Amino acid sequence: MALVILLLACHCEGTPPKLTENPAIKANQPLNIILLIGDGMGLSQLSSSFYFSDQLPNFARFKTIGLSNVIAANSKITDSAAGATSFASGIKTFNGAIGVDMDKQHVENIVELLSKENYQTGLIATSSITHATPASFYAHVASRDWEEQIAAQMATSPIDFFAGGGLKFFENRKDGKNILNLLKSAGFEVHTDHLEKEIDGSKRHAFLLGEEDMPKMIEGRGNFLAESTQKALNYFEENSSPFFLMVEGSQIDWGGHDNDAEYLITELLDFDQMVGSVLDYAEKEGNTLVIVTADHETGGFTLSSKVTGQNSKGKDKHDYNLIVPTFSTTGHSASLIPVLAFGPQSAQFSGFYQNSDVYHKIRAALAQ
Ligand code: MG
Ligand code: ZN
Repeated sequence: MALVILLLACHCEGTPPKLTENPAIKANQPLNIILLIGDGMGLSQLSSSFYFSDQLPNFARFKTIGLSNVIAANSKITDSAAGATSFASGIKTFNGAIGVDMDKQHVENIVELLSKENYQTGLIATSSITHATPASFYAHVASRDWEEQIAAQMATSPIDFFAGGGLKFFENRKDGKNILNLLKSAGFEVHTDHLEKEIDGSKRHAFLLGEEDMPKMIEGRGNFLAESTQKALNYFEENSSPFFLMVEGSQIDWGGHDNDAEYLITELLDFDQMVGSVLDYAEKEGNTLVIVTADHETGGFTLSSKVTGQNSKGKDKHDYNLIVPTFSTTGHSASLIPVLAFGPQSAQFSGFYQNSDVYHKIRAALAQ
């Protein structure tokens, strides 16, 4: 207690130390949290980055690896809404639920919790920002389909920076309201054209760069994911308070639903590239806990060998030097999900646990 009083006293005089130099932050305690979600990214999807790229993937830079069970409260196979609510709020809930429990009651999420502790917060997705995964970090509704309600809740959320698609849910609505005006009166600068080079660090920022989804990589999305993530990191750096950032590679899941291996793998490699820029930042700063995981696996994706014919007994012959990506379903599967962690307290993320424990492990890391 004496130490705490002494530190508080220090802050009252002269220039307060930058938070990154704050003696109250212990060496083994993360200052910032970056949660990177590859929607639908099971172990085979992650594995494909080792076979369908010329370079070693950035995933290979992680030393701490765990496996999580992503079962929902009412279903053995989760959807993205229940899965993201587990990460955001530390509970298991029903498929379709955004930030609410089994009784459809509002549960506080990590963005709300940390913003009360002076954290800056940000969300980035390659889907609409009102889609289930990002929505679970700022909205509370009983159905993921209520995207207009979800959009309206952004204006009253504590989010400081967001980027993704979904413009139509803010300005072209059945109720005639223009949520962009509400965002502006809440202090947001709203950008609907492109990622501006320079942004004002003293404002909040909304980048809504697609009517609904962002384009696919194979249709020319370009470097949106890594660039917007870098922009968020630069923005947070301008302000001297810690941050929580969630970035989603939303469309890995959609490649799986479409049973389209090229779609899936190009989205996965784009996600890995963004992971690389985040790791560069975390390695340089040394004060940031980075977690990479997924809400569930999609497509029953497999890296199979090529069948080249049949032997004399009628059994398949395989070429074990040729990988043929295959799918067993157009839906989600029940596979355990990889969790990769880097930075202070990352060791807490090894082993087997529940998806909701990702939230509790982040809380425990911050409480060290
Ligand atoms: Mg998603
Ligand atoms: Zn899905």
